Amino acid sequence: MKVNFEHGCLELLRGDICQEKVDAIVNAANAALAGGGGVDGAIHAAAGPTLMEECRLLGGCPTGETVATGAGRLAAKWVFHTVGPIWQGGDSGESKLLASCYQTALALAGQLGAESIAFPSVATGVYRFPLAAAAAIALGVITRHLKTNSPPFRIRMVLFDPTTLAAYQNALGQFLDPGQAIVIN
Ligand code: ADP
Repeated sequence: MKVNFEHGCLELLRGDICQEKVDAIVNAANAALAGGGGVDGAIHAAAGPTLMEECRLLGGCPTGETVATGAGRLAAKWVFHTVGPIWQGGDSGESKLLASCYQTALALAGQLGAESIAFPSVATGVYRFPLAAAAAIALGVITRHLKTNSPPFRIRMVLFDPTTLAAYQNALGQFLDPGQAIVIN
């Protein structure tokens, strides 16, 4: 599914983010940038050892922020490591921190001149952020960006399983204008 905005397009699809041919692939990392399971493990495995070497040099990344490394063997130019909040019930600033993940990643893309970027569903795996709420936060930030800013011009949400894809598809409608076209592919 694809939607066009003033400054670019948003695509929602099911897939493996490691296969994406975009300028920047976003990793749902941990604050130590130490690698792990889930999408983090998949990206490190696909990119090869240079990714971990670069992460070690950076030393870490605070929750809600994003840092860039090269992308090793991946087709992308950069991996953006963003650190989502661990869900603690919702009263510990988790929503703001999750929004900040997407905001800082998009700002970094603008600084580096990345024209296309692929996001996974940050924090909804091991970090247990409730899926519907996370989808609304992610798409709120991304659609606002595409209505007001550029680059990146092409933003892809690459969702790993049907439940996650459905949650993002359901959340998208609230951010579209009446009559705004959704292209189904
Ligand atoms: P977090 O620790 O931020 O919750 P996880 O990696 O545990 O991160 O999960 C985040 C999301 O990434 C989940 O929806 C998970 O299914 C998904 N995911 C796992 N592997 C991949 C992959 N190769 N490509 C895209 N998404 C993936």
